[in-house]
Amino acid sequence: MNYENNRVLTKQGTNAYEGRVRWNPITSIWLSFMTVAWFIGGSSFFSWNAVFIFFLLSGITLCFGHSLGMHRKLIHESFSCSKTLEYIGVWLGTLVGLGGPFTMMRTHDMRDWAQRQTKCHPFFSHQSSIWKDAWWQLHCKLYLRHEPGFEYPSKMSERRFYRWVEATSMLQQLPVALLLFGLGGWGFVFWGICGRVAVSIVGHWFIGYFAHNQGQRDWHVNGAAVQGHNVAFCGIITFGECWHNNHHAFPGSARLGLQKGQSDPGWWVLKTFERLGLVKNLTQPEDLPQRPELASLNNS
Ligand SMILES: [Zn+2]
Ligand SMILES: [Zn+2]
Repeated sequence: MNYENNRVLTKQGTNAYEGRVRWNPITSIWLSFMTVAWFIGGSSFFSWNAVFIFFLLSGITLCFGHSLGMHRKLIHESFSCSKTLEYIGVWLGTLVGLGGPFTMMRTHDMRDWAQRQTKCHPFFSHQSSIWKDAWWQLHCKLYLRHEPGFEYPSKMSERRFYRWVEATSMLQQLPVALLLFGLGGWGFVFWGICGRVAVSIVGHWFIGYFAHNQGQRDWHVNGAAVQGHNVAFCGIITFGECWHNNHHAFPGSARLGLQKGQSDPGWWVLKTFERLGLVKNLTQPEDLPQRPELASLNNS
């Protein structure tokens, strides 16, 4: 896929800035439930093994699922792999708790499109105060007055697996919860499901907030209302997703950490998988078409 977002369908009068933010009961209750269950259950059934499970499953679902399966593969098609590997990645990405493949693609693309317009709603730009932004992004939804259409690629609508995962996205936690209960009882469930989902959702927003507000930049996208920023020191815990200025510049690149010192564990996994013959055609910035609106901020 190139940098143009061709799934968002605009027409005369469509705009990214007129709209109302309203409470979104499903996501709000989902996150609140997970957080409260983790605080209460996680402290009552605390064990270091449960904390280990929390870190292990967070790492697996965020790296292989969210970053690789959902973002770099499903949404950006930045590398090729077998259908099976893609399905595993997208399923793991759904376990993060932010939504199924259709929800994730639409949310991602709409934000992308809005940020590339000359003007967009502060909901899309994260430019409100941090507390207001937290409330909006974690508990609300923006309803645009003149919303663009959205066309899912045929691979999505034709594949029953994706439709099933989307329809049952929250229930997908159940088999994992049962497995965890069998392995370590309630402590594993509260830490491995509730704590993990709550921290992943809040962490995802938190990095997104900074990635659109402050931090170093090497690139400027002319004409775009919002620029991406690189969030320092977060390469490892975000598996490379924090190098967001690079991502705004080269959305189709499978590699996110481009400069020295920009650790990108997601990319390291892809390179290892490539050596094992599991993935191929890893797209890098130099493979992408030139963008006339892209300007380097380094004069060297
Ligand atoms: Zn962005
Ligand atoms: Zn993206």
